[in-house]
Amino acid sequence: MPNFNFNLETSKTVPGKHLLATRAFKSGELIYRIENYKRVSEPNYQTIQVGPEQHIEELGALAYLNHSCNPGVIVNTTEFTVRACRDIAVGEELNFFYPSTEWKMDRPFICLCGAPQCIRLVAGAFYVSLDVLGRYFINAHVREMAFGWLEATTNELWKVLPEGSARGTNNLLEACEVR
Ligand SMILES: [Zn+2]
Repeated sequence: MPNFNFNLETSKTVPGKHLLATRAFKSGELIYRIENYKRVSEPNYQTIQVGPEQHIEELGALAYLNHSCNPGVIVNTTEFTVRACRDIAVGEELNFFYPSTEWKMDRPFICLCGAPQCIRLVAGAFYVSLDVLGRYFINAHVREMAFGWLEATTNELWKVLPEGSARGTNNLLEACEVR
C-alpha cells in the first residue's frame, strides 16, 4: 500500500499486531486516506462500520488499527480518513475508539488499555452510555443509530405512563416528575 505513515509490527510483550507511527503527527493531521475497500453488509472482526448496514473490509494494514479508550486517532467514515486527534510521537501505537464506528461488534472483547476512562467491555456503541459516548468523536451513522434507539425507548416509555400524566408534552423530565 502506498503512502503509509505507519508500520505494521508485532510486539513481544503484547499479543497481536500493532500500527506504529513512523513519524510524528500534529493533532488534526491526516494520517491516511481510506481507499480501495470493499463494501459488505455484515460486520466481521476486520471490518469498519460506515453506515447503519454498511461495513468496509479489505483494508490492508488498517485492519490492525487497535482499540483504545484513550485514542490517538479518529477514523472518520464521512471523509474516509484517519486523522490524529492529539499529537502523536514517532513509534507510538496508533489506535482509535471502536464504538466511534461500530454499533454492535461481531467480536466483543474486554479492554486492557489501562486508561483511567477505560470502558472495559468493547462491544460497540449500543453498549456504551450516551454520557460516555459524548466524551468521544462519534461518527454520524453511530449518532443516528443512538438517537434512533433513544427515540424507540422513549416511545415505549410513553406507553407505560399513566393516562393524563403528562402525555402530549415533549418534556420527559416533566412527565416523570413526582406530583
Ligand atoms: Zn480501555
